[in-house]
Amino acid sequence: MDKLKVTVWNENEKAFEPYPRGINHAIAGFLRESGEFNIREALQTQPEHGLTEEVLSGTDVLVYWAHSHHHEMDDAIVERIQRSVLGGMGLILLHSAHASKIFSRLMGTDTLRLRWRDVGELERVWCIEPSHPITQGVPEYFDIPHSEMYGENFQIPAPDELLFLSWYEGGEVFRSGCTFKRGCGKIFFFSPGHETFPIYHMPEVQRIITNSVKWAAPIYRPDIVTGNTPDFIL
Ligand code: ZN
Repeated sequence: MDKLKVTVWNENEKAFEPYPRGINHAIAGFLRESGEFNIREALQTQPEHGLTEEVLSGTDVLVYWAHSHHHEMDDAIVERIQRSVLGGMGLILLHSAHASKIFSRLMGTDTLRLRWRDVGELERVWCIEPSHPITQGVPEYFDIPHSEMYGENFQIPAPDELLFLSWYEGGEVFRSGCTFKRGCGKIFFFSPGHETFPIYHMPEVQRIITNSVKWAAPIYRPDIVTGNTPDFIL
């Protein structure tokens, strides 16, 4: 069987202390190490934000990390990503991708809106759906010693499945791992991943993201038939 084609996307290759070669490189690295995927990397700074028709049609799952350049996304490319998701491409939205145009567009809500605080506090991630493919091999809970707080209320529609719930040292809670289905496409949002902490080096986080890529892969991309159907089909 062909390996899943995965595109790991980031706004740029900016280095952070835990990620000297950029976050996309770190995420692509552990996905590549699993040996299960064909990985391509793409950047917002490239022509067409690295997401040409050719790249998207050759992508089974798009892994999307973004932070501070959401407003610079060309709406035509956002629409292109949306069409790909509706057609069956999987989409993994990481950390500040909550504020991306594509997430808001797919949810129909202002996903930018949540509580946040960046003081490096403890985050305890509870796995509340242990029978789901994304949570296989993940303990009942794990601690991220230093994290950025994302708290409720988070302006998303009720998720199809709520897999992870985070509690923070400051008292807030957050729906930190959620799935959605839009058209034929599967979407997973996972919030841990602030750029100044080595969260993507944690085995639990790597396991969750690796599982989610496999889960989000299209089973098939059907030709959907719609429109006026004047003749009986029987
Ligand atoms: Zn952050």
